[in-house]
Amino acid sequence: MTKSKDSNNDSVVILGGGIGGIAAANRLRRRLGGEHRITLINKYPEFSFAPSYLWVMTGARKASQITKPLSGLQRRGIDLEIGNIEEIDPVERKVTVQGREIYGDHLIVALGADYNAESIPGLADSGTTFATLLGAESLSRSIAEIQRGKVVINTAAALYRCPAAPYESALLIDAMLRRKGIRGRVDIELHAAEPAPLAVAGSNVSEAVKEILHQRSIDYYPSHQITSAENGLLHFSDGQSVSFDLLAYMPPIKPPSVLSTSKLAGSTGWIEVDPNSLLTQFPGVYAIGDNTNIPLQIGKPLPRAGVFAHSQALVVADNIASMIKGDSHTAAFDGHGGCFLESDFHRASYASGNFYAPPSPKVNVKSPSRRSHIAKVVFEYNVMRRWL
Ligand SMILES: Cc1cc2nc3c(=O)[nH]c(=O)nc-3n(C[C@H](O)[C@H](O)[C@H](O)COP(=O)(O)OP(=O)(O)OC[C@H]3O[C@@H](n4cnc5c(N)ncnc54)[C@H](O)[C@@H]3O)c2cc1C
Repeated sequence: MTKSKDSNNDSVVILGGGIGGIAAANRLRRRLGGEHRITLINKYPEFSFAPSYLWVMTGARKASQITKPLSGLQRRGIDLEIGNIEEIDPVERKVTVQGREIYGDHLIVALGADYNAESIPGLADSGTTFATLLGAESLSRSIAEIQRGKVVINTAAALYRCPAAPYESALLIDAMLRRKGIRGRVDIELHAAEPAPLAVAGSNVSEAVKEILHQRSIDYYPSHQITSAENGLLHFSDGQSVSFDLLAYMPPIKPPSVLSTSKLAGSTGWIEVDPNSLLTQFPGVYAIGDNTNIPLQIGKPLPRAGVFAHSQALVVADNIASMIKGDSHTAAFDGHGGCFLESDFHRASYASGNFYAPPSPKVNVKSPSRRSHIAKVVFEYNVMRRWL
């Protein structure tokens, strides 16, 4: 059993070594002296940068370029525990990892979201997802092989990670087929469970994305809820069936399984937090990123996106550091964020604004440009070179 409260020095335990967890660990390490222990726990020893999976699909990146061992954190004085978190006790601020108990004076819960492709019968067996590194690699090979027919992109539920990703995926597949010179022989359809692209960001953003899809001859079917899939055929709740030669899908998500037995889970199964401080109902326990549910006034949740996990991590880390150091300064997450939409190999749109603005998010979208594409490349560079 590891009891961290072995002196007057506060310790911080971070659950999850994804975008939010790593950002929080690094920020805390910079702000706190070495006498304060920072421990990050993650199921797997490696981190991979999900926003670049679509570049793996296009062949612009190899998996090895966007994957790094988490052990890099140890060189900075962050303790690393690799293992499955089996239990979280937010009252005692205690975590059980493969039978071992780890305590923290402060907990930051950043466990992301689990995929739930199984909720749609046949989906995982019939298609390939671009939401995992292996899936992105596999799609890259399949798209290289296809010569004619129909590619279908599907969002299997309205709630998924990164609202832009399926739309980027459609545009990038279009770009890949054009580069091969076979776009005229391959149709692309996007069947989406949600009523509009990036609907949470507002109708101006949805319309801009729809216009790009239209310009690229990608047929878009919103509010088209898939119910099952079998080899070569998708079935929808309106009774329609659609054939395909290649299916690329975004899976539904569900709360990380460890939350199902923890008091941390709210009525939705996700973690409810104060939208500005990210504090849960349990003192000293914070939650950031995809495992939180932050309802917006429009009745939709704040999107699951790395940009928010990152900003929230910095706010929580700063507040914990201030508290430990007795500094009265407090930071607040204000709902600002931006989202890249890669539209071809060298250009991206960028939608950014205030997602907390009342009564609805105020988000502007910039037309596709090389500058926005480069901004995403720079963000990727910083994560891969500076975070680990
Ligand atoms: C294809 C794709 C493209 C995307 N593009 C963008 C983009 O351009 N911009 C953007 O902002 N966002 C993008 N996202 C979304 C972004 O990747 C996520 O929102 C972000 O990773 C969330 O960060 P997180 O720290 O909350 O969770 P994660 O990064 O998912 O990290 C969670 C970590 O917790 C670990 N974990 C879970 N359960 C346990 C357990 N029981 N025990 C131990 N460890 C556990 C996991 O292994 C994981 O390492 C994209 C996502 C996908 C799939």
